[in-house]
Amino acid sequence: IWADVLGYVRKNISEVEYHTWFAPVKNLGVQDGALVLGVRNSFAQEWFRKHYLELLEDALRSLGAQNPQVSFQVLPAVQEAMILAQDPPPPPTPLGRPSPSNASAPPAMAPTENRQTLNPKYTFENFVVGPNNNLAHAAALAVAESPGKAYNPLFIYGDVGLGKTHLMHAVGHYIAERFPGKRIEYVSTESFTNDLINAIRDDKMTQFRNRYRSVDLLLVDDIQFLAGKERTQEEFFHTFNALYENHKQIILSSDRPPKDIQTLEGRLRSRFEWGLITDIQSPEFETRVAILKMNAEHNRIDIPQDVLELIARQVTSNIRELEGALMRVVAFASLNNVAFSRSAASKALSNVFASQEVKVEMIDVLRATAAQYGMSAEMIRGSGRARDVVVPRQVAMYLIRELTAHSLPEIGQFFGRDHSTVMHAVSKVTEALGRDAELAAAVDALRDQLKYVEGEEK
Ligand code: ADP
Ligand code: MG
Repeated sequence: IWADVLGYVRKNISEVEYHTWFAPVKNLGVQDGALVLGVRNSFAQEWFRKHYLELLEDALRSLGAQNPQVSFQVLPAVQEAMILAQDPPPPPTPLGRPSPSNASAPPAMAPTENRQTLNPKYTFENFVVGPNNNLAHAAALAVAESPGKAYNPLFIYGDVGLGKTHLMHAVGHYIAERFPGKRIEYVSTESFTNDLINAIRDDKMTQFRNRYRSVDLLLVDDIQFLAGKERTQEEFFHTFNALYENHKQIILSSDRPPKDIQTLEGRLRSRFEWGLITDIQSPEFETRVAILKMNAEHNRIDIPQDVLELIARQVTSNIRELEGALMRVVAFASLNNVAFSRSAASKALSNVFASQEVKVEMIDVLRATAAQYGMSAEMIRGSGRARDVVVPRQVAMYLIRELTAHSLPEIGQFFGRDHSTVMHAVSKVTEALGRDAELAAAVDALRDQLKYVEGEEK
């Protein structure tokens, strides 16, 4: 069971978070009907109570426990060492299957329905809007304000960890609040499939259909998993039609657009394209910082801006990983009793991201160069031809060429110029570096600043 709990947890948090927090946890078995987990210290104990209690309870619920209880005990150092030495740990009383001597353990329950509830944290208020997600956000808000009327279905796609589930839940919360009495159903495609299989097995197709066809808002997550499941597609097709004809709102998420979902029936694909298809991209640096900032505020962690920026530079695509990195930094600083500094942060993240180069963006190079030369980014990008702007402009172009994967035309466009200007700048700087020590020092300093997160000891 503990392995199942861990499996559930792992699916719901980032790898970083999992390794930071759950890898060192020891299962101490069941006492008085509660699953007891051993943690390393009182800080971890607090942390688990505050951040992972719900998740663990959910995990137990998903395994059939009706009234799951979890408690955390600080392991004495000796005990921890002993448990670490034993591999595997002794089998504790499994939860959900009470032994005759332990009548208070929750009874086994075979879930026939996978009812999923909305995550209270996934609201519009908690959703940071940036250029990467503003269209999806606007569409979701429009749908939340006039369900069934704005766009139906709303199809949101994007890579993992970019906020699709968050946005769907946000619509659910919004509608639940504004339109009490509306029936809302959130389901993953996996659960929908399982429900269908159970309904077929238990001869409960009528209940199944009633459940899904009587809602006002149906949120179906990760619809790409319909691929290749013919019977589920067939049933979903009818569910979709029943809801659509009654002007009930449908929101679907996927990791790719409908046209790229292989082995999806044409009639479903075309229905998915009836409404609005919108995507979420990876967040820009500023959006990542804003997300970290909100996260820190929510957890009442007072962490300086430059440290948040450092974290935001290291994790560039997946927001779940970004949040995990923040936790890791917080844990590192707390466990070692040091302040949140850039060096503490890079140490905390060094194991995880050791092999990962910091990703540099054009705007960062521009800003750093501007700061180095004591002028504004606008001036560098502007039309000025005086030597004191031309040199920084050429340096910025040179460093962007070196540190990013952007093409000459892309860089040119960023500066409102053409690719030959960039080419010229690159060769000018290359040539000047050989004879101009001051320039070389400036370029080196900028490169270090942009490329390596910590300027201190490494
Ligand atoms: P997906 O469903 O696309 O895989 P999730 O919705 O599960 O991604 O988001 C992953 C994590 O990132 C969640 O904790 C979510 O709250 C957070 N997140 C994603 N986008 C944002 C955002 N724009 N603002 C704040 N948090 C976000
Ligand atoms: Mg999701």
